[in-house]
Amino acid sequence: MENKRTRSYPDILFRLQSALNGAGEMAPLGEIKNGTEAHTIQSIVLGQGNSRRALISAGIHGDEPAGVEAICALLERRTLSEYLQDWEIHLIPCINPFGYERGTRENHDGQDLNRHFKSANPPREVILIKSLFDSLYDLTLELHEDIDSSGYYFYQTGEAELMKNLPPKILHAVQKAMPINMDSEIDESPASGGVIKRISDPDAMDWWPMALYARSQGARHCMTLESSPAFPMEKRVDAHINAIQAALMHFLM
Ligand SMILES: [Zn+2]
Repeated sequence: MENKRTRSYPDILFRLQSALNGAGEMAPLGEIKNGTEAHTIQSIVLGQGNSRRALISAGIHGDEPAGVEAICALLERRTLSEYLQDWEIHLIPCINPFGYERGTRENHDGQDLNRHFKSANPPREVILIKSLFDSLYDLTLELHEDIDSSGYYFYQTGEAELMKNLPPKILHAVQKAMPINMDSEIDESPASGGVIKRISDPDAMDWWPMALYARSQGARHCMTLESSPAFPMEKRVDAHINAIQAALMHFLM
């Protein structure tokens, strides 16, 4: 890959380690190698053993840094501490370290990792992420950004009650940081009030993103959250964090 490195994945790991400060452990999921270069995909578990389980991930698309920043901020601001009575929270700060460092959507091998969750021979990053689904999650949240979007929006798949009752709470929380994309079509899909109305039948699709795989593995609700890089990083981070808090809170009502 010829793209120059513009960000440092080790810097992100250092920030996370510093923020954790012994309150939680980073655990390696596995190493990704490209020639002499190697990165370890890390996971962090907080509230281990609690009955509610969430998986929050970012950086599957390397050119969408706000999600990675949001996971750092979650730890630096201690945002999750109030949920750790009830939730076991798994954080994957960056699924695509090579893309993150170079600002590319794809990994070092030119693969869009979020298109390979149904592939017979997926990239190693995808194999490592799939290994997290040995046990059930109540909630999975994937943090993305969409350069073509004028505001925040999301995809969702899950149980009927959650599909109906979660979106208004998330939209209300996000709006404090960033406007919602109110277009009737977003990313070539019909949308309403910032929620994509998914029309594809997963069984009929040739490829799956991570969210559809998560749902197929029994996760109760799976959301792909998209912020807009039209706004400053601070707003994009706050929008993601507000969405995460609203989702975690909903399960505790
Ligand atoms: Zn993305």
